[in-house]
Amino acid sequence: MQFKRTTFLTTGFLFLFTACMPSGGFSSPLDSSPFFNNKQLTNQPLSKPAMQHQTKMRNLQNQFPGVVFYKGDSSLKRVALTFDDGPDNYYTPKILEILHQKHVKATFFVVGMTAKRHPSVLKRIVKEGHSLGNHGWGHARIPKLTDDRIVQELTKAEDTIESITGLRPDIYRPPYGDLTAANVGLLHQLGFRVVDWSVDTEDWRGLSDQQILSNVHKQVSPGAIILLHSLSRRGKLDGALKALPQMIDQLQAEGYEFVTVQTLLEKQSLPIPTLPDMP
Ligand SMILES: [Zn+2]
Repeated sequence: MQFKRTTFLTTGFLFLFTACMPSGGFSSPLDSSPFFNNKQLTNQPLSKPAMQHQTKMRNLQNQFPGVVFYKGDSSLKRVALTFDDGPDNYYTPKILEILHQKHVKATFFVVGMTAKRHPSVLKRIVKEGHSLGNHGWGHARIPKLTDDRIVQELTKAEDTIESITGLRPDIYRPPYGDLTAANVGLLHQLGFRVVDWSVDTEDWRGLSDQQILSNVHKQVSPGAIILLHSLSRRGKLDGALKALPQMIDQLQAEGYEFVTVQTLLEKQSLPIPTLPDMP
């Protein structure tokens, strides 16, 4: 797991947040794999916003190679499970139990103020070998913030994560996948690689396990980054919990290996820049 060091001052602010809205997902041709057998669900097209988001992120990855990623190396049959918006003390422990049973390592993009609320769960994530990403302090949409506020938002989350685990994540996922080309330079200056997703499960909508598995099947490909959630919304992720062990079994049966985002991207990333001194 790679981590970085920063020296920025921190001040914080809160934003009400909801799940990373969805926007990701691109259509890949259905194949004849045994992954999913419900034709009615697999034939549903991805939404237009999901397609548009995927196109935007693919363009940003092309524009900023080694810094922005919506997926990893497609030459290796590896995927990364990512869980956003936690940790919480209901779903996250159940997710960790499934990952432990399946011997799978994942990546948790945690919200600073949520991590502060559930420090023991955050520690457990690290103790069990998973990696961490920064998802901001208060789940703010960064294109709406000034550069100073972006620095505050990310640094307060880093400081909180470090105070609990001793680690500072070197990857950042913008809430809602919302960022502009203008944000990317600052984020890289701050020492982050920017990580979006190529598979949007839309689990946060309260979908059934079969709908979630269908969403994965429609979008998965080698190097995929799969978006899931570990947020505290009772009932909303019940389908996701049911889907997770099946997803792991089915993807492994197709020959996929599960790795953390840091492992998925390790040979493609530009070096993290030397950070400037901040006043
Ligand atoms: Zn989020």
